[in-house]
Amino acid sequence: MRSEIYVDLSKLDGNLKAIKSRLRSSVKVMAVIKDNAYGHGAVPVAKHLSSQVDWFCVATLLEAIELREGGIEIPILVFEVPEKQDAEKYLEYSITATVSDISTFEILKAGTEYQLNFDTGMRRLGIPSEEIESALSLYKEHKELNCTGIYTHFSSADEPENESVPMQLAKFKSIVGRFPDNLLKHTANTGAIFYYQDMDLQFDAVRPGVCLYGYLAGESETSDLTPIIEWKSYVMQTRAVKKGEPVGYGETWKAPIDGIVGTVPIGYSDGVQRLIGGKFMVEINGEFIQQVGRISMDYFGVFSPDPLFKKGDEVKVFNGKELNPKEWAKLLDTIPYEITTSLHDRIKRRYSKIV
Ligand SMILES: *Cc1c(COP(=O)(O)O)cnc(C)c1O
Repeated sequence: MRSEIYVDLSKLDGNLKAIKSRLRSSVKVMAVIKDNAYGHGAVPVAKHLSSQVDWFCVATLLEAIELREGGIEIPILVFEVPEKQDAEKYLEYSITATVSDISTFEILKAGTEYQLNFDTGMRRLGIPSEEIESALSLYKEHKELNCTGIYTHFSSADEPENESVPMQLAKFKSIVGRFPDNLLKHTANTGAIFYYQDMDLQFDAVRPGVCLYGYLAGESETSDLTPIIEWKSYVMQTRAVKKGEPVGYGETWKAPIDGIVGTVPIGYSDGVQRLIGGKFMVEINGEFIQQVGRISMDYFGVFSPDPLFKKGDEVKVFNGKELNPKEWAKLLDTIPYEITTSLHDRIKRRYSKIV
């Protein structure tokens, strides 16, 4: 096996506990496990969480079907706008659709459960403010459908004290005031849960995503979230290099002194962005070893002046501690979401216990 991702489910439990400690009592958890649980493996993560959360949220109908076929029975909300040819599937698999566009009322099949998504400022998905009246009358008219909730999404809750959050919240409150009180109302993603605890935005449920996997949205740090993955590979080959000899495509890196180069069978097609080449360390035999040269499609090189590793030694790309997707995100000027969702599906995921 070229490399393997190890997911520590007890750390996932720890992160869930950190989330729940910030919730008012009786607020439900709708765990966001879209995009293969942000790269961690949707079905195993869902199986592990299904007794501890109330709902799952996914981006697409296909992801929801994968969960149902994997044996997940708790409610699942799909964020995307349903396509006409798929409408039957929502009913068949008992999956909750989102109405973000009033034309969706016309395509859902009788008996389908749905939730209303209102755009309060994100301008991505959701019913725009101008259409509230139409949405309200269609909601009343379509008694053959089963509306269970109403939600919105914040554009900038990943930043503490962003003024758009109270503005979106006020809009949302005025919209929900028009609908019956028994609908499940929810707004909060990771940022809203962690940075806006004082604001009255938890309503009936929250939608935590990236925090489950151990990361905060945005720049801030918190002590009680832990990255739940390690990424392990091994040294496939080694060779001695002399001072001045180049390593890898384009001869962009040359050994500053004599030493040893190891080849690790992970490349940009596994999710190591080429732009990170030369910028990160791995852990081998308890030592930090510098990655050198360009990242190839299926390999990267590491270098040490001393023979600190040999063929076959384990290489930790993410070690569950200081080497993790959050650090990579800083190096690449991106967010941990992009790092973990880039981990290719072909990499085997292993879980800390049978799930
Ligand atoms: C992805 C997503 C979330 C979760 O966001 P995080 O920042 O990962 O917590 C919540 N709600 C919606 C609508 C989303 O698309």
